[in-house]
Amino acid sequence: MALQGGFAEHISHLQALHVEAFEIRKLSDAVRPMDGLIMPGGESTVIGKLLKDLVIYDDLKKRINGGLPTFGTCAGMILLARQIAGTETAYFGAIDIVVKRNAYGRQLGSFSTEAEMKGIEGKIPMTFIRAPYIESVGASVEILSVVEGCIVAARKNNVLVTAFHPELTADNRLHQYFMDKVVLSRNGK
Ligand code: GLN
Repeated sequence: MALQGGFAEHISHLQALHVEAFEIRKLSDAVRPMDGLIMPGGESTVIGKLLKDLVIYDDLKKRINGGLPTFGTCAGMILLARQIAGTETAYFGAIDIVVKRNAYGRQLGSFSTEAEMKGIEGKIPMTFIRAPYIESVGASVEILSVVEGCIVAARKNNVLVTAFHPELTADNRLHQYFMDKVVLSRNGK
């Protein structure tokens, strides 16, 4: 999804894995055949507004609810969450998590660390930028990574979310994980 934010870096990571990618900027892009969708980081309020203004929202929501493999990073995770803590706002509501926006406060909003993630061997570099974290998850949501007591990655069926930006590091194992575990396993390949 290329309405705003860090989509170019996601596309580079996909290309490094020899995965074909195209940008979704308007409705005619959103209805093209696709095996998976990535929602990048950026500013969730801006992306949320553009989704509605450009009339892309309804089609994408239908596809995600229909099982389209979807990966949201940072603002992308906020857009996919069932609830944004302390607000009435929700966008796709595609995964049963409550997220807290700008959750680390001003000082700690942006930082890098290395931590483990279920399903990936060894530690992966994690870059957080004015990051949200996951405050709570519904019963059937799988927690994939916890950093300093906060949930930072989770998955339910076709929806994968991370509070951090894997596309801003040279490591593309998370994109590989999305391809292998979410996209290809769904298509039975
Ligand atoms: N703070 C942003 C938001 O609330 C998310 C930041 C990001 O995507 N890096 O949408």
